[in-house]
Amino acid sequence: MSFSGEVKEELSAVISTSRHCQIAELAAMVCYGGRLESGERQRSLTVQTENEKVIRKGFTLLQKSFNICTGITGKGPYSLKIREEASLTRLLQTLKMSDCCTEADGHIDTVNPLLIKNACCRRAFLRGAFLVSGSMSDPEKSYHLEFVCLTQGQALQLQEMIRDFGMEARIVIRKNHFIVYMKEGAGIVDLLNVTGAHISLMHLENLRIVKEMRNSINRRVNCETANITKTVNASSKQIEDIMLIQDTQGLKGLPDVLRKTALIRLEYPDATLKELGQYLNPPVGKSGVNHRLRKLSEIAESIRGYKEETL
Ligand SMILES: [Zn+2]
Repeated sequence: MSFSGEVKEELSAVISTSRHCQIAELAAMVCYGGRLESGERQRSLTVQTENEKVIRKGFTLLQKSFNICTGITGKGPYSLKIREEASLTRLLQTLKMSDCCTEADGHIDTVNPLLIKNACCRRAFLRGAFLVSGSMSDPEKSYHLEFVCLTQGQALQLQEMIRDFGMEARIVIRKNHFIVYMKEGAGIVDLLNVTGAHISLMHLENLRIVKEMRNSINRRVNCETANITKTVNASSKQIEDIMLIQDTQGLKGLPDVLRKTALIRLEYPDATLKELGQYLNPPVGKSGVNHRLRKLSEIAESIRGYKEETL
């Protein structure tokens, strides 16, 4: 099962004991995943989702808080349809959607703020909205959580609600849909926490830790490799210079300190400047070694210049 599927399965099993929260969650499911159709004779409300567990949760909430029993149809997408006028009126009245402004295609624009006054109800609202319109990428690959909203009003309300809990969400328009999305691992963890997906949250946190450790090890290895390469490159240039001096004027004529440094470099081609300084007698600091090697390089350069002149 995908990570997104795991989160939905977990959230589908969370049933609030308070009626206010049940109503808030159902309102979100109807708003973000439902359509209100008014034919000439009959009205109907349909909630549709690809996920069977989610539709079963809708069924349970309808039964528990409204005593409305309705069949589940379809085999992905799954639908719940309420046609019975008395039930529908009662439901829409409680969800404060009887006179809500519906878009031309039957989408409900926002959930009445009165239903989501309490923090507990706002959590339930986010849970319901995620169940019917949310999805999440595989956290092994990337951190991305999104809600696909049918209207701008839905997207703005969701964004406000997420911000209300101190997280950041952005809105982008994609194929006539308003996408509310989060890209930051920490924010996604917070959202899972707020909605009550605690097991998924633990999985995500574990993955995040492993990923961060892997990254930091990679960073260190890269950094060390870069340093080694730098040392080796510098060292081979120094050795080249020293060999040139040796082959032309010889090392014997060099001042004592330079000759010693040159010999030590030839003896320890892989050593860092600091290490070279420690091998010298008496020991010299890193900048001292650097200074001497630069002198040797200057001598080599002047030999090269002299060679070019004489050619
Ligand atoms: Zn509540």
